[in-house]
Order: sequence, then structure tokens, then C-alpha cells
Amino acid sequence: MTDALFDIDTPPRPPAPERESATVRRTRRQAEQLARGIHPLAGRGLHEQAAPADDRDEVGRRCGNCRWRRTLNYRSGSYPKCVHPGTRSAEDYEVLGPPRAAHSEASDCRAWWPACRDHEPGDPRLPDAMRWVPDPAVMR
Ligand code: SF4
Repeated sequence: MTDALFDIDTPPRPPAPERESATVRRTRRQAEQLARGIHPLAGRGLHEQAAPADDRDEVGRRCGNCRWRRTLNYRSGSYPKCVHPGTRSAEDYEVLGPPRAAHSEASDCRAWWPACRDHEPGDPRLPDAMRWVPDPAVMR
């Protein structure tokens, strides 16, 4: 005998909502920013010649062909980071490092991302032909 007024079966609890990893949440948030025309690392608008975010095969300005994107080695790993100085002075940059690069996956710079307004074509370590970014106005 129970204290309940009616003798009914207790319905089963609904399953707990699936928890997303921090990486999945961040990826979704970055995709939403790009859809609004905001660069996830720079935190402001995209370059006027930026390649589209929804077509990764289309040529144009992307982080991947920007001279400020570097692969930094740390311990046994290598991490793609944006080393643009932003508004940081040379002295602060020397001490604090690049403002957009942190010791976190959150500051990894994806090569396919459309370029921010600080984009400068080319990685000085690459041959000229690989640094060339076609002008979309000429392509049409
Ligand atoms: S386009 Fe260049 S400067 Fe801008 S976030 Fe990407 S790597 Fe950095």
C-alpha cells in the first residue's frame, strides 16, 4: 500500500538531453558568426574579397592563404594560429605574443575560413605562385 491517492504506474523519466562537447558548441557558434559575416577570430567583419564560407572550394581570400596564419609548434603538437599583431604594440607583442593566439583549441585558425579585413596574401615561405590570390572582380 502506498500513500498515493490513485494506484498508477509512474511514467519513466524522459532521457537526459545529449550533452555536446565544447568543440561542437564552439564549431556551431563559429559557423553562426561566419553566417552573419563576422570573423570568429578577428571578431569583426570579413574582407571584401573574402571567399564564401559555404563553398570551401571557391577561390578567394581565406585564412589559409594569409601571411599571418602560421603553424606553431608546441611540445609534440603543431597548431594553426593567427599571429596578426592587431593593435598590440611591438613591445607588448614581444612580451605577450599575438593577441589572437592562445594555448587553446578555441584560437585555432581554420584554413578554410573566409578572410578577415587584416588579410595579406601569402606566406613568405611559399613560392609566389602559391601566394597569389585571384581577384574575384577579374574572375567574373
Ligand atoms: S585572414 Fe589572416 S589576419 Fe585575418 S584572421 Fe585569418 S590569418 Fe589572421
